[in-house]
Amino acid sequence: MNILVVAAEVAPFAKVGGLADMTGALPRAWSEEGHDVAVMLPLYGTIDVEHYGIVKTSHVVSVPVGYWTEYAEVWKGFLPDTSVPVYFLRSSEYFDRKGIYGYHDGFEDNDRRYLFFCRAAIETAKALGFQPDVIHAHDYHTAPCMPMLATQYRHDPFYAHTAGVFTIHNMAFQGMYDPVRAMEFGGFPPSEFYPQSWYEHHGSFNAMKAGIMFADKVTTVSPTYSQEIRWTNEGMGLQGALQKRAADLVGVLNGIDTSIWNPTSDVHTAVPFDVRTLAKKAVNKRALLREARLPSGAEAADLPVIGMVSRLTEQKGIPIMMRAVWDILEQRRARLIILGSGMREYEDFFLRAEERFPEHVRFVKGYNEPLSHRIQAGADLYLMPSQFEPCGLTQMYAMAYGTVPVVRSIGGLADTVTHYERSTLQGTGVRFHDYDESAVAYALDHALGLYNDEPHWTQVRTNAMQQDNSIGVAARHYLEVFSWARERHA
Ligand code: ADP
Repeated sequence: MNILVVAAEVAPFAKVGGLADMTGALPRAWSEEGHDVAVMLPLYGTIDVEHYGIVKTSHVVSVPVGYWTEYAEVWKGFLPDTSVPVYFLRSSEYFDRKGIYGYHDGFEDNDRRYLFFCRAAIETAKALGFQPDVIHAHDYHTAPCMPMLATQYRHDPFYAHTAGVFTIHNMAFQGMYDPVRAMEFGGFPPSEFYPQSWYEHHGSFNAMKAGIMFADKVTTVSPTYSQEIRWTNEGMGLQGALQKRAADLVGVLNGIDTSIWNPTSDVHTAVPFDVRTLAKKAVNKRALLREARLPSGAEAADLPVIGMVSRLTEQKGIPIMMRAVWDILEQRRARLIILGSGMREYEDFFLRAEERFPEHVRFVKGYNEPLSHRIQAGADLYLMPSQFEPCGLTQMYAMAYGTVPVVRSIGGLADTVTHYERSTLQGTGVRFHDYDESAVAYALDHALGLYNDEPHWTQVRTNAMQQDNSIGVAARHYLEVFSWARERHA
């Protein structure tokens, strides 16, 4: 099958969150199964062209925007250690700047940037002669590829049999644009924008809704989330659209790229280990404590370390964990190492905690890929009290590294972590249900109890490490969805 992936983030080139991990990992897995995959990504100013060996091709593609034409330079690289081509579309006007989306509210012209990119990706595939059986678009940024394919390219013989599959990684970001601008930049007839049309939601152009309505198949990143977005507020207002597409909506659980996230071969960690050499995890723990400039002597290393690697936003449940974590720190029952950045008030909280408990807390503000691996390898517990979580990857990374996840049982967290039961010796972590402070406190207390309770501590870590969360399962499920989508255009 020829698969064209169009995305605003692809690891390792441009990453903000889990979207990038998936768009980086799935093409590799499909290509290993013998499929032809091409990936399209904007050439952001932040991408280190030299480091990744990305070179300019001779292609400059004409991109219809509104009633005029713009141009995209085509640059080319490969997903690391694969023969999967990644085409980087360059437009100095849209992408030669620092940052991917821009801070907080995003760049003012994100509507125009991504509508341009969607159109450019479809035009580029044609210019390169890469005829996709499926265009796989991700999240609101590239959702407009779906209406473009269905309304502007369906009659082009090149795309006559191409199916469109749209994957929702997070309903919270929908791409609500000014309708006059978006319909024009996208080349959609203004007459198609009216109350409750496939482009419209509460008076705005809604890229996510258009993606949902025009795709042949819609997927989201976990089975539980695929239900939550239809039936609860997690649909963020688009429950109706999702209900209409219910027959074509599939939950495909994310997986992890074990060529990158693997404790036996991780280039970023102190020592390799696996489930049979779990004791070596202690070496990684002490190395992490040293790196974090926390006490790391044998006695100090006895205290459990709670790790977190996260965007610091409300979604990640920061408000409900503050009290519980503070109490635990006050009782000196654990250490906390947290890597992330986001809302000021949450950053301030962790800075305060660090000041108050200098021997027990390290807050590393910012984005740091190597350190994120070392936290997964060195921590004992991994806290993820999310308000909502489409899938979540970091709890799966934690499990792979024998770090016990403490999670709220919603979305993908419910699909990936089972609660450890002492009576059956089954389970891979600690789960709690309610979105409140006392639930987190209870769960952490329970987890700290497990830490001190052999053989259960070894058992839960072993169970976590033995759970197969690898990307291969997800990759095959997507291929199945692609073939269903193609049936509509055979
Ligand atoms: P989301 O996509 O909602 O942010 P996920 O758990 O699906 O959450 O994916 C987050 C990804 O981003 C993981 O690969 C995680 O390791 C990474 N990540 C998040 N914050 C940081 C950070 N500050 N430094 C390094 N990696 C980070």
